[in-house]
Parts: sequence; structure tokens; C-alpha cells
Amino acid sequence: MTQQTGSIFDVVVIGGGASGFFSAINIVEKHRSASVLIVEKTHQVLSKVKVSGGGRCNVTHQELPFKTFAKHYPRGEKELRLLFQEFSSTDIQKWFEEKNITLKTESDGRMFPESNSSQTIIDCFAKEIQKKNIQLKTSSAVINVRKENDIFYLTTATEEIKTRYIVACTGGSQNSNHYSWLQKLSQPLTTLHPSLFTFNAADHVLKNLAGVALPHSKVRIRNSKLIEEGPLLITHWGLSGPAILKLSAWGAVELAERQYEFDVLICWADHFTEVYLKEEINTCIKEHGKKKIYNTPIDPIPKRLWELLLLQSDITEELTWNGISHKKTNKLIEHLISYPVAVKGKTTFKEEFVTAGGVSLQYINLHTMESKNIPGLYFAGEVLNIDGLTGGFNFQAAWTTAFIAAKNIVISLNKK
Ligand SMILES: Cc1cc2nc3c(=O)[nH]c(=O)nc-3n(C[C@H](O)[C@H](O)[C@H](O)COP(=O)(O)OP(=O)(O)OC[C@H]3O[C@@H](n4cnc5c(N)ncnc54)[C@H](O)[C@@H]3O)c2cc1C
Repeated sequence: MTQQTGSIFDVVVIGGGASGFFSAINIVEKHRSASVLIVEKTHQVLSKVKVSGGGRCNVTHQELPFKTFAKHYPRGEKELRLLFQEFSSTDIQKWFEEKNITLKTESDGRMFPESNSSQTIIDCFAKEIQKKNIQLKTSSAVINVRKENDIFYLTTATEEIKTRYIVACTGGSQNSNHYSWLQKLSQPLTTLHPSLFTFNAADHVLKNLAGVALPHSKVRIRNSKLIEEGPLLITHWGLSGPAILKLSAWGAVELAERQYEFDVLICWADHFTEVYLKEEINTCIKEHGKKKIYNTPIDPIPKRLWELLLLQSDITEELTWNGISHKKTNKLIEHLISYPVAVKGKTTFKEEFVTAGGVSLQYINLHTMESKNIPGLYFAGEVLNIDGLTGGFNFQAAWTTAFIAAKNIVISLNKK
């Protein structure tokens, strides 16, 4: 039976993840007497924070000009350029510093707590909600929300909760049921697809090279404008590494439409071009003419990969550079700059996956994060149609949107 709880909360935050905790804490930080409740569906809060960054929690990325920072978001780039002016990577760094958490920056710009443990962030949030008397209900999924006379009524399996404002921080999901309470409120959503996945090519000969890594590859999708550069890793099931994750993010919608069946064309080093490789091969002929091609790979191709590329270019183990024909040269060059791999399916195992899609930004006031059609309903985090590349960008979007929602709810509370 559904129980009616008497008092009306100032704010109920739906979802006890990164954006939920950060918005709740920021509301009370700015409005000491606000009554705030976090309602979490599962029995455990901050579960993604816990496993994030391999247990180290990549909280943000080092500050960059807002325009450059925003370029790391396949969805939300334009909007975040504006939002970062309110709360950026520098601001979250300061916020954690004020809470005595030292962050460190790795050479690639990713920032982690110095402790190298996500528990540091979880402990900080837990301490803050206790200090600020923020209430928490776990194992309570919000299944319905209705609004009457400026009051929201939230239904869980066991009770009805009343509140003046809501921050929806329910995170992402590719399952539309996840958003059913929002759909009932007629809050528009975009299509939903996974992002940040690796490519399956289990039948491909490359699987014998599992573990081979190329630090500066260039990968593109055949018959598409999608192209990315970066480290590439050959795995037992196909292709992985930052270059592939970036392709999956920028191509989240397009690759879903192709039902994850497409060809990837690999250029094994980003400086490889036809002209460059012709010169390299001419140099090999001049300088190592009598040497076996098998034993003199072109830099930076690892030996195991080189042997496979030669085999597929009909170059036998005995052939020397002096003996290479035009036909074989051309075939080898093609395999070095445009090696095709047929992809069938995707894998998100152990990866930092996120949802491409969610609450449509068109229907959100970007100065406040409030719904344009349902006043009093605010949004933060991955529930929105905002998602970033790996590197701390997804948490930064959660902090930024949560801060703005909190700030504007407090402005409204102060007016009442
Ligand atoms: C394995 C993994 C590692 C990651 N590592 C990183 C990283 O290092 N750096 C980075 O920037 N990003 C990382 N990400 C992405 C990042 O974790 C998310 O983008 C971020 O957690 C989003 O925060 P959120 O609060 O919006 O959503 P979530 O963290 O998903 O939290 C949403 C919460 O809402 C609850 N909820 C949902 N529906 C309801 C409901 N109806 N009623 C009540 N509660 C509900 C959920 O149970 C959940 O606890 C990682 C993701 C994964 C999966």
C-alpha cells in the first residue's frame, strides 16, 4: 500500500549517483535550511563512482579553453560551451580542494584523487550529506511523478513523497523503461544508444594478434565520415583502445543504425601515407636490398603484425627487398594505410560505457537546467542528452549540470 508522508520537501533529488549527490550538497551549501531528500532506486548509492576509472575515479579532465573542453562531447558540445562558463573543471578542482581532497593530473590530462581510490570521493559525499542533514532513501525507485498546485507528488512502491522542486539525476540507460516516469510527464527524449564500446571482429585473422598495440593509429569507417586517431589495441574479440572508443562515441547513432555491422579501415600509424611509404620502401630497397622483408619491418609496425600484413600481401618469408614487385609493393602499402576489418557487434565489457541520448536539450532552459514544459523539474547528469569521451568528461558534465540546477533551485527557493 502507498503511504502518504506528511511534510513537503523543498527539493527531492531522484537518483543517488554523482550528479544527484553533487546537486543535493550544492543546494544545502547555498541554502542552509533547505530540506532535501535523495531517493535512490538501488540499495547502494554512488555505485558508478565506485567502479569508475578502474576504481580510481577519473573525476574530471584538466582545464582547457571551454571551446576545446566542449569538443570532447559528441552530444552536448554546443550547450556545454555555455554551461562551463558557470562551472568548469577548475571549479570542481577547487570544490574538492575545499573539502581537503587533493587531485592529481596524469600526463594525458585525466584527473584522479591523489589517493588513487574512488572511495575518497564517496567518503567526501557521504560526509557532506550527513553534515548538511540531507536525507537519503535507498531501495526506492520513483515510478511516477505528478504535479498539482505547484507541488510534485512522487510515487515509489511504498509511499508518496511531496516536494516543491525535483532534480532528476537518474543517469543513462538504453532501455526506454528507465525514462517511463518522464515520458508520462511528456518530457521529450531523444533516441537512446550505447556509446564508448569496443568493436567485435571475432572471426578476423587479427584475433591471433591479441595484445598487439599501435600507439598512433588512424581508424575510419568505410562509407562514412567517421575517422579518429589514437592508440589502437587488438584484442581476442576485435578492436579496442582510445581510437576505437572515440569512433564509437562519435558514431554512436550512425553505427547503431548500421546494427553494428561495418568495415573499419586501419592506418597503422597516423603519419603513414602512400607517398611516405613509397619512400620508406625505396629506402629499404637501397639500404637493405639483400635482407628478408620479414626481418625488417617498417617502423612502428610490431613484428607479429608485420608478418601478417606480408602474408596477406603475398610476400613470402624468403623474399628480399630487392625482389619486391610493384604489385606486391602496392598491396603492402594498401594494407599499411587501409587495412579492412569487418566488424560484427560491439562489447562494453569493463569499458566506461555511457548512454548517447536522453532528455532532449531543446526542452531545457540551459541557464537553469529547468524543464521548459514542467516548471520546478530540473535535470543533471547523464539523464540528459549529453555524453563525453573517456578522460573525466562524463563526470565533469555531471558536476556542471548539477551545480547549475542547484544554484537556480536556490534562487527560486529564496524568492518564496
Ligand atoms: C564502468 C564505468 C566507469 C566509468 N568511469 C568514469 C570515469 O572514470 N570518469 C568519468 O568521467 N566517467 C566515467 N563513467 C561515466 C560516469 O560514471 C557517468 O557518466 C556518471 O556516473 C553519470 O552520473 P549520474 O549521476 O548522472 O548517473 P548515475 O551515476 O548513473 O546515477 C544515477 C542513479 O539514479 C538511480 N536511479 C535511476 N532511476 C531511478 C529512479 N526511477 N528512482 C530512483 N533512483 C533512480 C540509479 O540507480 C543511479 O544510482 C563510467 C561509467 C561506467 C559504466
